[in-house]
Amino acid sequence: MAWSAEREQLMLDYRRLHSDPDAADLTITPKAIVLHYTAGGSAKNTMRYFDRTRIEGDRKALAKGGAANVSAHFVVDRDGTIYQLQPVTRMARHCIGLNHVAIGVENVGDEDRWPLTDAQVEANVALIRWLAATHPISHLLGHHEVMDMRDHPLFVERVAGYRNSKPDPGAAFMARVRAGVEDLALRGPAD
Ligand SMILES: [Zn+2]
Repeated sequence: MAWSAEREQLMLDYRRLHSDPDAADLTITPKAIVLHYTAGGSAKNTMRYFDRTRIEGDRKALAKGGAANVSAHFVVDRDGTIYQLQPVTRMARHCIGLNHVAIGVENVGDEDRWPLTDAQVEANVALIRWLAATHPISHLLGHHEVMDMRDHPLFVERVAGYRNSKPDPGAAFMARVRAGVEDLALRGPAD
């Protein structure tokens, strides 16, 4: 993923505004994994989108939260291929409230035109296993579940009223992935 001194500074501004006013860098200790879908059909287009330094001007609700572009740590293509876009210990902008502790995984697809595939379920399971073995991961969440974490100590959002509601990746996909990592006993939004 394209990176630059400008993007580093925009993300640091974002971090200071939303979670850590005294932050000196973007280093995080990952404690949660948040799964998403892209609402598109192409991994290449998703990665090209994440290459932008600044967030799209017409996404006003997001733009008022900072100029840094959104991104994720991983993109999982429809055939299960996993692309890592950046270090998992570098803060990315992919949800509200948890970016300072969360690894973001984008799955190429949606709930309608490009339903998430069996290969993506398997790839997410394998990826989560590897991440949980190498980092102190306590929570596995779908993006649509993140707001249910708003009273949890891991959830930190300093901008009053900065909230959203997301449908991705959906309860069915989360249930299938969770079934594949049940033995890891990762916590969900209700725990
Ligand atoms: Zn999402």
